[in-house]
Amino acid sequence: MKIRIEATKTPKALPAADNPLPFGTIFTDHMFIMNYEDGKGWFDPRIVPYAPIPMEPASMVFHYGQELFEGMKAYKAADGRILLFRPELNAKRSNDTCERICMPTIPSDDYVMAVKELVRIDAAWIPKRPGTSLYIRPFIIATEPALGVRPSSSYLFIIILSPVGAYYPEGLNPIKIWIEEEYVRAVRGGLGEAKAGANYVASLKAQIKAHEAGYSQVLWLDGVERKYVEEVGAMNIFFKIKGKVVTPVLNGSILPGITRKSCMELCELWGYEVNERQISAAELFEAAGNGDLEEVWGTGTAAVISPVGHLRKGDEVVKIADGGIGSLTQRLYDNLTGIQLGNITGPDGWVTCV
Ligand SMILES: *Cc1c(COP(=O)(O)O)cnc(C)c1O
Repeated sequence: MKIRIEATKTPKALPAADNPLPFGTIFTDHMFIMNYEDGKGWFDPRIVPYAPIPMEPASMVFHYGQELFEGMKAYKAADGRILLFRPELNAKRSNDTCERICMPTIPSDDYVMAVKELVRIDAAWIPKRPGTSLYIRPFIIATEPALGVRPSSSYLFIIILSPVGAYYPEGLNPIKIWIEEEYVRAVRGGLGEAKAGANYVASLKAQIKAHEAGYSQVLWLDGVERKYVEEVGAMNIFFKIKGKVVTPVLNGSILPGITRKSCMELCELWGYEVNERQISAAELFEAAGNGDLEEVWGTGTAAVISPVGHLRKGDEVVKIADGGIGSLTQRLYDNLTGIQLGNITGPDGWVTCV
């Protein structure tokens, strides 16, 4: 793939050093775009100034939501290298989502090359304070102007970049989680395991409900029996029960997180028994009652590792690790962020230099 480059003639001022960089609100000077048309395939890969894109009001994405996205980060290492964390896994997951929502896939090497080229061009935008990074948002939208319900015949693949602040400016902070019993996010056979925008629309109502009750995230139950825990907002969920690491098994309605996979691999390396299985909310509350629920944490690109201090289901509330941070949770956070920043050598191939 040969990427055409059109550099901006009006570079924006970089954010001030003390800017807290609220998540996803500031965008860099450039974006990557590539078109697709049936019969022609993907064409005209280009890096151009970040700007609005003209769209037909009839574009299919506006009507039936044929859209997918990915989320990853670029970090500036102490030695000046720019590092990506397992980007080929994002390319693969994007292609898996393409298959599920009937979009054309992108060769993994081209996908990763586009990310690297764009990050290289806007490298000055990678913030340097501890915990900060350059968030990378690749996405694909259906652009054919037609109102029939069927896969679009044309698409845009776009990548934008956003410098983001530390997720925990005051250090790792436990979050409070609301177990949702009324609404569901996804069902087996639906879109749950695909990173499609549609899943997030389905989640908004419960998120507002949880926020109003003073909880920062929703823990979803399975969509059929509303009995088994699935995942949290944009994070997968882990439990340490009597020394063993437990996480819900990927059953079709859970997003296969790259942080989840990495966390399982690290725990196994460290000698923990890791069980992927069904786990009911009732089992969790019983384990909490017995003192067997030792740690709970979420995993995802944005926060990396998020300790959970409280779980609430209906009127039942349990405090985990005394509302603090468990030692395995802290160790995972320190090691994953250390590997991502190039301060700790991780397993082979986990970081890629831009
Ligand atoms: C993206 C996402 C995650 C986390 O995936 P990572 O690859 O670890 O960032 C978890 N759950 C949902 C619903 C997501 O969209």
